[in-house]
Amino acid sequence: MENTKELRTWLDDMKLNHPLVIAGPCSAETEEQVLKIAHELKDSDVSYFRAGIWKPRTRPGMFEGVGEIGLRWLKKVKEETGMKTCTEVANAAHVKLAIENDVDLLWIGARSTVSPFIMQEIADALAGTDKIVLVKNPVNPDLALWLGGIERLYTAGIKNLGAIHRGFSTYEKSKYRNTPEWQLAIEFQNKFPDLPLINDPSHITGKRDMIFDVCQTALDLNFDGLMIETHFDPENAWSDAAQQVTPDALKQIMQDLKVKKETE
Ligand code: PEP
Ligand code: MN
Repeated sequence: MENTKELRTWLDDMKLNHPLVIAGPCSAETEEQVLKIAHELKDSDVSYFRAGIWKPRTRPGMFEGVGEIGLRWLKKVKEETGMKTCTEVANAAHVKLAIENDVDLLWIGARSTVSPFIMQEIADALAGTDKIVLVKNPVNPDLALWLGGIERLYTAGIKNLGAIHRGFSTYEKSKYRNTPEWQLAIEFQNKFPDLPLINDPSHITGKRDMIFDVCQTALDLNFDGLMIETHFDPENAWSDAAQQVTPDALKQIMQDLKVKKETE
């Protein structure tokens, strides 16, 4: 990846004076749930509304997402609130459907980044489009795998790129759901200083009361944005109930965070 400045054009074009904020539920559950959360987030710093449609659950037998119908709900979010939308894609069929349904930004989940075959399939399906694509770090702390996934997209001609730091699996006991290993994120920033880097405190912490501190650390480290799972009734969410925050809590977090000024 040579001309790394062009990779952040999509973000620079948004001319935000605060970090890019992506928020919305872990999973789209019902049309009402999606629209209620979206309306509660409408007058906030949120630029992109997230909702997982196809959910990669660790074990079978759990809620695995509403599937294609959720894309219609995301379209309604855009029509009714003006927020842009994003969802996770994990194979070529997801990419095709997300593009057909005008999803603005796609992200690739940690369980997909880990597989070069999946990354290549997604890269091929995206070739020739100008979609914004964010690549989550792989589940395991392997920088080369993360970079390799991004390079596959870049080589396929995807130039609106970014990365999401969502922490890493560890066998050690940890207060985090996925340990941040900040030094890896910093190494990543040093390798590609122009590649937008978004922090995902929800999947790092696994607990809503730890989210603020991780957000602040990320901003102190010059991350470009935050992706925060948000639900009007977090405790009864169909996935990741312990880590989601309410729209009001999200607004409070954004208000309390100290954002560095450009000149600092
Ligand atoms: C998610 O964003 O809901 C998700 C499943 O994330 P990850 O791929 O980081 O586990
Ligand atoms: Mn989740």
